Amino acid sequence: MGDGDEEREALRRIIRPLRVRPGRKVWVPDDFDPRDTGGLSGREEAEPHLQQGLELLARYQDRLSAQATHGVLLVLQALDAAGKDGTIKHVMSGLNPSFVRVSSFKVPSTEELMHTYLWRYSNRLPDRGCIGIFNRSHYEEVLVVRVHPELLQRQRLPVDLMGPDIWERRFREINDWERHLTDNGIRLVKVFLNISREEQRRRFLERIDDPRKNWKFSAADVRERRWWDDYMRAYSDALSHTSTRWGPWHVVPADHKWFTRLCVAALMVDALVDIDPQYPQPSEEERRALAEARAELEAEAG
Ligand code: AMP
Ligand code: MG
Repeated sequence: MGDGDEEREALRRIIRPLRVRPGRKVWVPDDFDPRDTGGLSGREEAEPHLQQGLELLARYQDRLSAQATHGVLLVLQALDAAGKDGTIKHVMSGLNPSFVRVSSFKVPSTEELMHTYLWRYSNRLPDRGCIGIFNRSHYEEVLVVRVHPELLQRQRLPVDLMGPDIWERRFREINDWERHLTDNGIRLVKVFLNISREEQRRRFLERIDDPRKNWKFSAADVRERRWWDDYMRAYSDALSHTSTRWGPWHVVPADHKWFTRLCVAALMVDALVDIDPQYPQPSEEERRALAEARAELEAEAG
């Protein structure tokens, strides 16, 4: 019936290898290849899949909004220049913006620091029927904050709660929080865009050399490369501890932008297909009201 079953299966094949099995200990630099393209030869081969993915997304999003019981939260984590913004732009192009909210998380404000660390993320969760996109997320609390301990110092925690067990504790708290969300209808799609050090270098140079990209360049981002190995350690540990049955991680290769976008679109479609939202059926009373309204409109044509 052309309902996209084959296409959905093709998309599913693309994302299956990206998933981090719950309980698996991963080491990012060895276990995932940023240059991988899932056997696709290039942009041209990927394009029709991407288009169909975006169409499916639009179709399912309409039902998600109509049903208004589930929300979907896309969590995007990555090092700089891995393509978070471009991916959001592409995935959004297939969505109805009225029911989407993108939240970008930066260095926390003074007000945010006066609350526990999950507060600001809780405030930006998607409503039922909506899709939320986190450009950076609560995972920064076990990534950048772990790589730069001075950021933890600013969080105003009681000293006896800042011991070395804090990361294990945060993993548990994050898992519990995410479980609470999924148990209440918020579906999580967690994505780590995995860029190689060399490709990041190339993209920074492009930002320097192309005047239209200068605005994206930040010298601080280049400095951050000094901590590359610490980030790899922090990401590996976070992925190993927080890929759960209810919130599995996906490591998306990020050296080829066209493949990154296809993967993220496929992951979103997969989540929506799984939810399988339905247009609500009008009740007896609502059906009567519809019939009355129809009669009234027809009478006007007189
Ligand atoms: P960008 O996303 O490139 O505009 O930069 C946002 C900056 O905010 C990055 O340098 C992040 O490391 C930083 N950031 C995001 N979340 C946190 C956090 N929870 N604590 C400290 N810094 C953060
Ligand atoms: Mg940046």
